[in-house]
Amino acid sequence: MRLVLPYNARFIIDRLQQNGYSCYAVGGCVRDSILGREPADWDFTTSARPEEIEKVFSDCRTLNFGKQFGTIGIILDNEQYEVTTYRMDGAYSDSRHPDEISFTSSLHDDLSRRDFTVNAMAYNDTDGLIDYFDGQKDLQYKVIRCVGIATNRFAEDALRILRALRFASTLGFSIEATTSAAILSGRKMLSAIASERITEELLKLLGGEKVDFILRRYRSVFAVFIPELVGTFDFDQNSKHHNRDVYRHTVAAVRNIEPDPLLRMTMLFHDIGKPLTRTTDKHGVSHYQNHPMLGAAMTEEILRRLCLPRRFIEEVTTLIRYHDARVKPDAVQIKQLLGTLGVDTVRRLYKVQRADILAQSMYQREEKLANLAAVEEETERILSSGECFNLRMLNINGSDLLHIGITSGEQIGKTLEALLNMVINGELNNDKPSLIAAAKAI
Ligand code: ATP
Ligand code: MG
Repeated sequence: MRLVLPYNARFIIDRLQQNGYSCYAVGGCVRDSILGREPADWDFTTSARPEEIEKVFSDCRTLNFGKQFGTIGIILDNEQYEVTTYRMDGAYSDSRHPDEISFTSSLHDDLSRRDFTVNAMAYNDTDGLIDYFDGQKDLQYKVIRCVGIATNRFAEDALRILRALRFASTLGFSIEATTSAAILSGRKMLSAIASERITEELLKLLGGEKVDFILRRYRSVFAVFIPELVGTFDFDQNSKHHNRDVYRHTVAAVRNIEPDPLLRMTMLFHDIGKPLTRTTDKHGVSHYQNHPMLGAAMTEEILRRLCLPRRFIEEVTTLIRYHDARVKPDAVQIKQLLGTLGVDTVRRLYKVQRADILAQSMYQREEKLANLAAVEEETERILSSGECFNLRMLNINGSDLLHIGITSGEQIGKTLEALLNMVINGELNNDKPSLIAAAKAI
């Protein structure tokens, strides 16, 4: 088998070979090349020791953060290439790095330590594809299978449990039966894994094409690090709007939205507040008042635990708080929404609402979708008209108010807000003389 290596990959392999070492592209880049996918990055495995790698590339910029694990980063054209000495790993008791590694002169040893057969292939132009574990066959049949004995491999590093689900989701593969059984039986070991590592895999998993299948089939795995999900499992909604329980509805909503990590995370948690807010009226119909508020609070806690950045958490929780807002194609209401949330968030909110509707029952679906389309159309009209919906667009500012004798900062703020409201409500024209006159009247 012949793969096309980019120029810099060939440069790295050639250099090491010319200096008497062996070197191969390895792991994800080989897997993706065979699949005809663009590799996210290129990694290399070599018989050279870290100091030797540094010496061979002494004329290049190199990074040595991973040196104790055998990895030297080489910067070429502003891109980082990781070159790692053939190694064998011990256990991962801190759940981040192997306790001890030992270098080896055997490529076979290095490939044996890798997680899945499809990730355990190496390639260079001299030797072609090195595939000791039938990774190529598993690629062909679209299977994720552990290298070696699955239960042992997950016990060494439980993150591999989530990585298996991640690759199955993103590549659209199934998980071989023994590996799958070991995932389910070993899932509790994930609780020892550092949150940052979990989150990195979870974000990739959520963007995958088979995310719905994985979330359903392996829900008990997700429950290990997001126990809040358990309440939604099989939770009957008892409402005409729904033909799925809360968790199945959630999974359908995740699948219905574009594979953007923030949007997918929003859908995953948008109804997490429902089980705790159910009330049932005298007709026997259930309601979930304030579930967006409670859901946003619960999600904030979950996402903090997952070490996601503050901005990400704020955006997700805002979208969850508003996901059930009954927006009408009404200019005043939409301008208030635009003023409060900002244009980008409002556009995301509509995506969230569409994904939510499409995961509900057919009851009133046409009406719901038609309303949303009208809301979007009115929003775009407002945006292209240049009509005012926030303080920046108001044709008066703080210093104008100072000039007419309003001196306290608090007063200025309140006056501007009041003027903005009048302009949005259509009670006042957004031109300076009218605004000044209205300000004086206030
Ligand atoms: P991506 O396309 O996301 O980069 P990848 O397969 O390259 O996927 P990386 O996390 O970049 O995944 O890891 C590179 C390679 O290192 C993997 O293909 C695999 O061979 C090996 N590897 C990574 N993490 C583990 C692990 N926890 N256990 C065993 N091998 C691993
Ligand atoms: Mg990679």
